[in-house]
Amino acid sequence: MTSTLITGIGELVTCDPREGEDSPLGIIRQAALVIEDAAFAWVGLAADAAAADERVDVQGRSVVPGFVDSHTHLVFAGERSAEFTARMAGEPYTGGGIMTTVSATRAASTEDLRANTARLVGEMAALGTTTVEIKSGYGLTVADEQRLLEVALDFTPETTFLGAHVVPTEYTHDRAAYVALVSGEMLDACAPLARWIDVFCDAGAFDEDETRALLQAGVAAGLMVRLHGNQLERGPGVRLAVEFGAASVDHCAHLSDTDVASLAGSKTVATLLPASDFCTRGPYPDARRLIDAGVTVALATDCNPGSSYVTSMPFCIALAVREMRMTPAEALLAATAGGARALRRVDIGRIAVGCSADIAVLDAPSFVHLAYRPAAPVVSAVWKAGVRVGSGGL
Ligand SMILES: [Zn+2]
Repeated sequence: MTSTLITGIGELVTCDPREGEDSPLGIIRQAALVIEDAAFAWVGLAADAAAADERVDVQGRSVVPGFVDSHTHLVFAGERSAEFTARMAGEPYTGGGIMTTVSATRAASTEDLRANTARLVGEMAALGTTTVEIKSGYGLTVADEQRLLEVALDFTPETTFLGAHVVPTEYTHDRAAYVALVSGEMLDACAPLARWIDVFCDAGAFDEDETRALLQAGVAAGLMVRLHGNQLERGPGVRLAVEFGAASVDHCAHLSDTDVASLAGSKTVATLLPASDFCTRGPYPDARRLIDAGVTVALATDCNPGSSYVTSMPFCIALAVREMRMTPAEALLAATAGGARALRRVDIGRIAVGCSADIAVLDAPSFVHLAYRPAAPVVSAVWKAGVRVGSGGL
């Protein structure tokens, strides 16, 4: 067993409400922590720290939990910059471009898909993300969805079966047959590779009856529920998410008062994806309304080649503060502890003894710089499960 003492932490933001000051941020100043193997073994004042095998002095920097990016679509091939250009010139986002990526992904080798996913996961890790959820959804055949989940599992245990991303073109005239395929043979092949089932329940994707049938099949196959909902209109997504006890309903740009009230009375997290609203020029969700109503909120990138080719959680934090009226503290909590809640995990998203030793060291005296210095390389070093990621200097 090897141990590492990280000391000289000017501001340790534990995101654990039981620690330090400014609950629920749980800030300890002049702090240190000890990592043993993959977990935190000790957290406290630097003056009280014991010796360890290795010692790293971060010289007064701020340290925060590694980010939990609970919503991505990382396994794909190709890119859609032409669609982005057209959208910025005024074309609306409809989700129709998904089939462009499906075609490129089906044609790609598994090695190429794995290499592209590795590139993106590496980019995210350098930006402070230590847990990533990855969905399938660009295969839309039994073999391709299975292949995408096999690739995703190489990078994370948080894999999500999203065969119900869109109805592929070959089933346009027989939607019922596609729903039957996804909830039958495709689910049978994919359930052993996934922890979650997700459905894109929105205008142009799957309607209420289809979504209910798909989720029922997923639950029967042992998967837990998360949902894309209320991105494009005030649809039934939130209602269904609460009905199924989903861990999270993601997007939430168009919510009725009933939606907000039912989320507030549930354990379902509202995961907000401001980078996708930024990249589609869509309306941002009203985070203030959700938080004030008592809803637990998470932030995630929604990284995908169409609506949000964004890997940076710090960028999402900056957007949430500038565009969604979240405080810097609320945005950091949503990007860490909130993401953990959205994945029903208690071992990540906070700095506490026994949790996975995931941290981002900031080249700044305060976590507020994540929002205050958008696009600057504020994250200067990252540990994931006790291991230093990359080799950048502190
Ligand atoms: Zn998504």
